[in-house]
Amino acid sequence: MSELNLILLGPPGAGKGTQAALLTEDFGLPHIATGDILRAAREAGTELGLLARRYMDAGELVPDEVVIGVILERLGDEDARDGFLLDGFPRTIEQADALGAALDGQERGLTAVLLIDAPDELVVKRISGRRICRKEGHVYHVDFDPPKHADRCDIDGSELEQRPDDAEATVRNRLTVYHQQTEPLIAYYEQRGLLRRVDGTRSPAEVHDHIRATLATLRLEESL
Ligand code: ADP
Ligand code: ADP
Repeated sequence: MSELNLILLGPPGAGKGTQAALLTEDFGLPHIATGDILRAAREAGTELGLLARRYMDAGELVPDEVVIGVILERLGDEDARDGFLLDGFPRTIEQADALGAALDGQERGLTAVLLIDAPDELVVKRISGRRICRKEGHVYHVDFDPPKHADRCDIDGSELEQRPDDAEATVRNRLTVYHQQTEPLIAYYEQRGLLRRVDGTRSPAEVHDHIRATLATLRLEESL
């Protein structure tokens, strides 16, 4: 079987991170989330973190050349040689072109781009109720996926917090940015025959089943 090189595309709050966690378990792929990498850099106070901070807090995209460098370097790591799951990258045509060129250069290609789609009003509800654990970034929702004990992570017991950029005003800006800068990637990957659409309004388990079925079909087609 050839490697699984996947991209999760979709608006903020559509459920990319939630699905990525499930798919990582299924396939043992490294989950490469630009947002997580940038947040870790902020925590560590690195130059990258300091630079990314003001863009993230405003709900704007971090400049292309910065994220492209970070992701291409990460894709060169040993654990990404046999497949990867990109979450939140690419978010612009320029990022997609850079990724495509880098993969071409290594004679690798993308298996599929999974678009998890959901309307703005729903993602605003999801993001405003999102809570993240301080230690490992495990994701909860106050209504849709509450922790067993208030404000504590079920997995590691650490405190749950709200991301600063999940405040409603910033979320609205992130959605505008998504529609303007990221949505053109839908047509981009459709033209390349890579786009697979998944209805993100369903429950996490249904979305997961749909993705698994989509990947099984792709593998079947590949083996024919
Ligand atoms: P969500 O999944 O809710 O959209 P992320 O954690 O993926 O949020 O991203 C948080 C922030 O990190 C974005 O609003 C943006 O500032 C920055 N970011 C993440 N991925 C990228 C990217 N590919 N290009 C530029 N900025 C990014
Ligand atoms: P993204 O990575 O696309 O920004 P997340 O996976 O972090 O999205 O999900 C955003 C919020 O919505 C989280 O609080 C998560 O618990 C919740 N969530 C994710 N998928 C679903 C779903 N299918 N139905 C209801 N809530 C969901």
